[in-house]
This record gives sequence, C-alpha cells and structure tokens, in this order.
Amino acid sequence: MTRRPLVIGNWKMHTTRADAVALASAIAAGQIDGVDVAVCPPFAWLVPVAEALASRCTGLGAQDCWAAPKGAVTGAVSAAMLAELCAFVIVGHSERRSIFGETDHLVREKALAVLDAGMTPIVCVGEDQSVRQAGQAAQHVQHQVLEALGALDVDRLSRCVIAYEPIWAIGTGVAAQPADAEGMAASIRRTLTMSHPAAAPRIRLLYGGSVTEANAAEILHQPNVDGALVGGASLNAESFLAIARAAVSAD
Ligand code: PEP
Repeated sequence: MTRRPLVIGNWKMHTTRADAVALASAIAAGQIDGVDVAVCPPFAWLVPVAEALASRCTGLGAQDCWAAPKGAVTGAVSAAMLAELCAFVIVGHSERRSIFGETDHLVREKALAVLDAGMTPIVCVGEDQSVRQAGQAAQHVQHQVLEALGALDVDRLSRCVIAYEPIWAIGTGVAAQPADAEGMAASIRRTLTMSHPAAAPRIRLLYGGSVTEANAAEILHQPNVDGALVGGASLNAESFLAIARAAVSAD
C-alpha cells in the first residue's frame, strides 16, 4: 500500500517570535510535491506561524495538549482549542514522558482528545538506552503502542500517526541505523495488524531521532518508514526542506 510521506518539524522550546515567522515563511515557500510537511512551533507562536503559513501547503501542529476540553487546569491547552489552528498534535513525546511524568494512560487520553477534535495525533513511542541494551526494545515499544492505541476503533486508529523515536537517538547526533528503524517500524505494524488488520497498512509510521539531510534518504527509503519527526534539523529551513525532499525521492 502506498502511504503519502509525512515530515514534521518539532521546534520544541526554541525560536523567538521573529525567528518562528521567518522559519515558517521559508519552509512554506519551499513547497514540495508528494509529501505532507508540517511544523510544530511553541504554543506562543502558533498564531503568528499560522498567519505566516496562511493558504500555503505547510501544515501546522502543536507539541502537546491536555486531554480535557476545558476546565481548571492552569497552564494547559486543550485539543479543542488547538483545533482552531492546528491539524496535528504531538502526544507522548519522550521529553513529556520524562520531564512531566506522562504515562501511557495519559498519552492515550490525549490521543483520543486530539482525534475527537478532528486532528491527527502524532503518538511518540521509543525505548531508552537501558531498555535497548537489555534487548527489550521491541517489547517496550509494542507495550507503549498497545497501551496508547490498542483499544481504538478502526476509524480512529486509521487517523493516527505513530513516531518511533528511540530516546538514545533524540538530540544526540546518533540516529538509528536504517535497518533498525525499519525493523521497529515493521514490528509496530505487525503489532497493529494483529488487532486492526484493516487499519494497520494505512497508518503512517515516522522515525525520529537525529534525522539530518545527510541520513534522511536512507532512513526514509525503508519500506515501513513513512516519514520523519525532526527536532534539531527542523530549525533550519534548508535542512528541513532537504529532509522533506528526501522523503519524496525515497517514496
Ligand atoms: C525529537 O525531539 O522529536 C527529535 C527527533 O529530535 P532530534 O531530531 O533533534 O533528534
């Protein structure tokens, strides 16, 4: 089955307002056919970035959300609020899990909120170095996937994107070997096939962790890797666009 590649930039807690608008404008100006491209700026810059992207093909996403639609949750932003601006929301990023103690259960609640608000959740999973060294990476990721998404109905699951992001590769400059990224993506797809045979072939599986323009083509050329979630390299328009181009030529 052909899945349209998706390349998403996670700007994390970087950029000034002016940087964010300039970066979004440069990325939007470099429109590339055959790939979905989106950027996830900090919450504070969603509106100016939305304006900078207006009527162009680059999508807008948020880096997180809260699961409830409204309420007394100081500092939180709901999926329903983000739906006014965004098409994507990252949930379960390893930095949210490690810094804020987010659990698989909360990730599932957030993914459901994003789906209910009509957006696409980018559900992040991935093992740390100790789990990898213990040879438990596939089981760990399988558990995260099933806890977050295993009980979804076919329609909802089909609308999800999963990003495999090994924690040891995030921001380290050491990306997974292409064969390892493919091995985990294939394992995730097999896991989903057992519970949701109709939806599993349609779900886009991204790789994230030190993707650069130098390694993108080989990673994105893998048959079960349908795109990338890009951190550091997404803060440079040329690098990010080069990664997006690599996703197309790899397709
Ligand atoms: C990320 O944090 O999602 C990420 C993939 O970061 P980097 O590309 O910088 O490793």
